[in-house]
Amino acid sequence: MRAWIVYTCMKNTIHPSLHASTVVCAACGTTFETRSTAGDLTVDTCSSCHPAFTGVERPAASGSRVERFERRRALAAA
Ligand SMILES: [Zn+2]
Repeated sequence: MRAWIVYTCMKNTIHPSLHASTVVCAACGTTFETRSTAGDLTVDTCSSCHPAFTGVERPAASGSRVERFERRRALAAA
């Protein structure tokens, strides 16, 4: 079917080639296979570790925004 579509509908010279690629989550290390034109991928979050999918909320950053700003400023000054 795909070969028929490629042969009849697509211009072979302008489309990138689709091939198997491995996706690795940098946060939790989950890997899965998919197909992509970009090759192997590394993502920041995935459905195994994102709170929207797991239902587990990460603890909020401690301190107020002012405290965090003061901490960053102290780090920048050091
Ligand atoms: Zn993940």
